Amino acid sequence: MSSTLCEHQGCRACRAAWDTPSREPLTFQGTNHERHAHLHQCGRCGAYWEEGERAASEISAEQASDFLQGVEMEEKARKILEDLTECFCGPEVVYEFSNDLHRFRVEGRPAHWIYLAQDFVDSHTALEISRFLPTDELVEDLKQSEQSRWLSVGTYGVHDVDDAFGGGHAL
Ligand SMILES: [Zn+2]
Repeated sequence: MSSTLCEHQGCRACRAAWDTPSREPLTFQGTNHERHAHLHQCGRCGAYWEEGERAASEISAEQASDFLQGVEMEEKARKILEDLTECFCGPEVVYEFSNDLHRFRVEGRPAHWIYLAQDFVDSHTALEISRFLPTDELVEDLKQSEQSRWLSVGTYGVHDVDDAFGGGHAL
């Protein structure tokens, strides 16, 4: 892999690390599944490296910070997805992020949509968020509903919105 690395990336030690199994002196920082990439930092020069499927390249500290925020966001989204899947106990729940919204589609006839704003998710822990998710009663309502519903979840609780919320059908 080193043949693809330019001289100006990182230091000699971290450039060489890509050819060793231990990756010394790089330390693993996190995985961003959406980007299919891993983040590493060099213990010698402090450089951040983004390792993609085919190549690794140095990224700035700012890019690394964005990367780690993405990792955290993914972990929360995964937890919310698990919680919702458990709440609905049956239908598949599909996740997508777009237009600053975490979108969860509960598959079925009809399907339902549950939206969480990025700001809301960023400013709460996964555990806090789980307390705002639809109650058993609401889940029952949704399961009985003959029409699709669009719900927005936030600090205000759960609100019905329409299908135009957050820029329309992203899914
Ligand atoms: Zn280095």
